[in-house]
Amino acid sequence: MSETKAGTLYLCATPIGNLGDITKRVLETLESADLIAAEDTRNTLRLLNHFEIRKPLTSYHEYNKYDKAEVLLDHLRRGENIALVSDAGTPAISDPGEVLAARCIEEGIRVTSLPGACALITALTMSGMSARRFCFEGFLPTEKKDHAHILDQLKTEERTIILYEAPHRLRQTLKDLYMALGDRKITLCRELTKLYEEALPMTLGSAQDYYKENEPRGEYVLVIEGADREALEEEKKRSWDQMPLEDHMKLYEDQGMTRKEAMKKVAADRGVSRRDIYQALLS
Ligand code: SAM
Repeated sequence: MSETKAGTLYLCATPIGNLGDITKRVLETLESADLIAAEDTRNTLRLLNHFEIRKPLTSYHEYNKYDKAEVLLDHLRRGENIALVSDAGTPAISDPGEVLAARCIEEGIRVTSLPGACALITALTMSGMSARRFCFEGFLPTEKKDHAHILDQLKTEERTIILYEAPHRLRQTLKDLYMALGDRKITLCRELTKLYEEALPMTLGSAQDYYKENEPRGEYVLVIEGADREALEEEKKRSWDQMPLEDHMKLYEDQGMTRKEAMKKVAADRGVSRRDIYQALLS
């Protein structure tokens, strides 16, 4: 008896606001799939009705993402093709699609991704910030310790930083970012691809003032400039200069370096010659 060939998981990007952004390939895949798994079945049903697609729908969301992944894997093993649709945009980007995709890969089931709308790329490209190197953080963690840890990491992040945020948390997030990063440039991108789309170039300080006067509305992507490398190095050097020289030497000697090696490192940290360090230690 021949073994049934497993099906494929199709990650289908759907519009983040403007229905015109659906791709032809996504429509064809939704039409031909055996089952559509959707983060919010009511939303997806509206989308399917708009494009006159009738297909069995099942829910796959944050609260059933582990258990339901196993159910969907059984369908795939039986040879069915599944189209996965998130609430909006590209599945697996800040949504539960990543869990199902990872399980399929583990089980040797083919996963393919149909590109299309994605809020982070849309925002980055229209933000005016450097798009050459960037990092995407999604939503900042809600847990206090993780939140502080990520903000601390972002202080020295030189790449453009992209965050997602909900309107009810925007004010607090701008405040936290200002405290951690200082008055950096930010472009607040909201309601992307929709009627009231906006990209507001500001600084973290002026954005706080703006949102004291204006109610945050709609969905936001925050695009923030990365840290300035020279300023970071200057700051690092200043903090080394404040450390007593012997303590600075001890730091490296405790790591197993010889006195000569430690002197070389200390000189580099402080931006002076090894001779200067030698002289200073003698005196
Ligand atoms: N998978 C989606 C994607 O590809 O971008 C993201 C899903 S995440 C649960 C939802 C967040 O994406 C929103 O809170 C918002 O930060 C951002 N977002 C989605 N649509 C947006 C839009 N039209 N304008 C601005 N931000 C949007």
